[in-house]
Amino acid sequence: MGAGPAGLSAAATVSAAGYKAVLVEKEDILGGAPILSGYAKLVPSGEWAKDAIGRMVSRVEEDAAVTVHKGAKVTQFEGEPGSFTATLSNGEKVSTGAVVLATGFTHFDSINKPEWGFGTFEDVLTTTQMEQMVSAGKISCPSDGRVPERVAILLCVGSRDRQIGREWCSKICCTVSANLAMEIKELSPQTDVFIYYMDIRTFGLYEDKFYWKSQEEFKTKYVKARIAEVTASGDGRLLVKGEDTLVKRPIIIPFDIVVHAIGMDPNEENPELSSVFGIALEKHGFIERAEHYTNTCGTTRRGIYAAGAAYGPETIDDSISQGAAAASRAVADLNALVQKAG
Ligand SMILES: Cc1cc2nc3c(=O)[nH]c(=O)nc-3n(C[C@H](O)[C@H](O)[C@H](O)COP(=O)(O)OP(=O)(O)OC[C@H]3O[C@@H](n4cnc5c(N)ncnc54)[C@H](O)[C@@H]3O)c2cc1C
Ligand code: SF4
Repeated sequence: MGAGPAGLSAAATVSAAGYKAVLVEKEDILGGAPILSGYAKLVPSGEWAKDAIGRMVSRVEEDAAVTVHKGAKVTQFEGEPGSFTATLSNGEKVSTGAVVLATGFTHFDSINKPEWGFGTFEDVLTTTQMEQMVSAGKISCPSDGRVPERVAILLCVGSRDRQIGREWCSKICCTVSANLAMEIKELSPQTDVFIYYMDIRTFGLYEDKFYWKSQEEFKTKYVKARIAEVTASGDGRLLVKGEDTLVKRPIIIPFDIVVHAIGMDPNEENPELSSVFGIALEKHGFIERAEHYTNTCGTTRRGIYAAGAAYGPETIDDSISQGAAAASRAVADLNALVQKAG
């Protein structure tokens, strides 16, 4: 279920193990968030999303062992491990031994942070909208087409924010933002980019390749601050108001574009998935894991596995690995069932 990086990887792994996979995707195109939202160059490979994920899509589309149902969802599901029947929204029935839920996440909707200007000012964008601009090859203000002198990227929008019920860190948005700052500078060298942060979490090998590089080579300015609000100034620019938490002083800086580094919410369809498949969700609304160490790919129902951002904020690389792991575990468990029966 779900043809993002995790689901595409799971389907390819089932086929590589010599079994048949059925991929059910609710949208009419495959590829998940990186394709549906038009991401630009991916972290950490630097490859365009359409090429990198496109390769994963063609691998399953060209594979005779993978049947793809697009624009379809599972509306009914019954049976037991080794012999489940899923009824799709188009009326078709699919028999399957196991299920991998690779149903991903929903981007945080910045409307839920109204004081930061999204939905009020045309020049306040999300990272996905800014990435679409980068993919189109030109940086300009949506309101009047001028080249921005200054762009602010606000981190942790819809993440690490107890006020709006999102306590988790979305894991990749610091690195994605450092990357975006460099992409903006490459396309528009006269634009200055500021990143407003609480802490920077460019974990592991992302630290030098993105955080330090964006400062040292691309002159991105990092401001440790608490943002209070984004308002309009008299000349049509945006004012980012807040407190510089290093020097503990209020700061008000004018910008031409403000970008919200939006985080990952649980898939908004998780309550529906939970009731159709009879699985539990954890307290934030992501899919609950069966057991961390001996059944890492499991859910609370036997025979149903999960992978990628369905479990919580995840990177593409890890979603791909988890998709392969969940598929391998499903195949191994099915083999064990057959051996037991025979
Ligand atoms: C702004 C932003 C930029 C990012 N950039 C990067 C980056 O550069 N590098 C990186 O490593 N990570 C990046 N990420 C994280 C990346 O998006 C995720 O790691 C990745 O998309 C997770 O893959 P997935 O397959 O688990 O889920 P998804 O990509 O969300 O795919 C899930 C699929 O399931 C389908 N689906 C959902 N519900 C159903 C249903 N009920 N029935 C059938 N199908 C369903 C969806 O339509 C979708 O196709 C970024 C995240 C954000 C928010
Ligand atoms: S990765 Fe960075 S921007 Fe994203 S939620 Fe975590 S700290 Fe905030």
